[in-house]
Amino acid sequence: MIKQVLFIVLLALTLLVFSYTVSRLWKLFRLTKKTAPVKDWGKRLNLTLAVAFGQTKILRKPLIGFLHALVFWGFMVITVGSIEMVIDGVFGLERAFAGSGWFYKAITASGDVFAYIIAFGIVAFLVRRQFMHIKRFRGIELKPKNKRDANLALAMILFLMISLMGINLAYLNQNPEPVLGLYPISGLIANYWQINLTQAHVVFEVSWWSHIVLIFIFANYLPYSKHFHVFMSVPNVFFSNLDPLGKLPNMESVTKEVQLMLGGNAFQDTGDQAPARFGVKDVEDVSWKNYMDALTCTQCGRCTEVCPANLTGKKLSPRKIFVDLRNRMNEKGLQLIKNPDYNDQKALVSDEYISYEELWACTTCNACAQECPLNISHPNLIMDMRRYLVMEEGRAPSGINAMFANIENNGAPWQFSPEDRLEWTKGD
Ligand code: SF4
Ligand code: SF4
Repeated sequence: MIKQVLFIVLLALTLLVFSYTVSRLWKLFRLTKKTAPVKDWGKRLNLTLAVAFGQTKILRKPLIGFLHALVFWGFMVITVGSIEMVIDGVFGLERAFAGSGWFYKAITASGDVFAYIIAFGIVAFLVRRQFMHIKRFRGIELKPKNKRDANLALAMILFLMISLMGINLAYLNQNPEPVLGLYPISGLIANYWQINLTQAHVVFEVSWWSHIVLIFIFANYLPYSKHFHVFMSVPNVFFSNLDPLGKLPNMESVTKEVQLMLGGNAFQDTGDQAPARFGVKDVEDVSWKNYMDALTCTQCGRCTEVCPANLTGKKLSPRKIFVDLRNRMNEKGLQLIKNPDYNDQKALVSDEYISYEELWACTTCNACAQECPLNISHPNLIMDMRRYLVMEEGRAPSGINAMFANIENNGAPWQFSPEDRLEWTKGD
């Protein structure tokens, strides 16, 4: 009974902190811009099954991708076991799902195997991060706190797996009759790791409680970590941009202006107002999907690794776009929630965050979006920031400004007068 009460108190605390985080995120999302209604649900479902659950993009790197995919699939299976632990804890039960027959055997067997696979995978990831100098894990946007965050989250997952192994091994050492579930690897190890009943009981209790408390801490830590993708990757892939890569969405406000000029009735009786801002200058100009991308980014660097601008020594790193957006939202968004008129005289598009130089280094090749395992779309946000620079500040590279002047004066990007356009048809 005491254990049950303690469990319920811990769970209530966890849910309390988690709901605070969710409400904070909700308020931040409310600062962002709406987009067109989400359509094509069937297509999105297929994409989610392939990219999020099937891990198709991660598997492009065969070895490390496969290991990551195993960790992801293992997490899904182990989550079922965690739900069972919560039900056991709240209602004072033991193995609440044990009555589900083959399902329970399948879940416990795969959970047991995956615990060892995930632990192996996490050790491999930690070794890679600490001892192998992988270029994509470096970059000006990755500060020491980002590296600490990555290591801490990996260490937590490792301890989660070790405690799960402890639960299974201690359970088998208690000689239960009958054994509920299947434990292929722990069963083998338990043949060699024999402890008496008292020891088994102590190991079981310590492992069970440390596992569940770690889950509670982990769930509340994730939203503040780059590992938030554990929660966000599936919805982010679901809400992916379904347009072909390279297709640039029109600006609604400009489209309406053009329709008006061409004699349409875009502004009639619609109550539309002039847009507050063209493009993206700061966090309140980004769309909810841009912010969702920023929260989902794992900082893996696969985008930066293939970016031709970055590879040729330019300042641009597509990963930095989303790292900066998340940081800036934490800096300004949280203040805007308290005071809607808050202005710190800084901006996302500025030398302090994403600079003119970075934005104009992009070739819009879309290699970053193609490579991102979470279907994050960098070029569209970069283009929206450029739109702000061009349309509000008149800041574009000289070659582009010359083209704009030609379009304005000559109706074409070239420097020839429209009257001369048919000159080429005349003989010498
Ligand atoms: S679209 Fe821009 S940011 Fe993305 S890979 Fe190409 S050059 Fe780099
Ligand atoms: S944007 Fe995508 S590819 Fe780039 S670092 Fe983030 S998750 Fe990785």
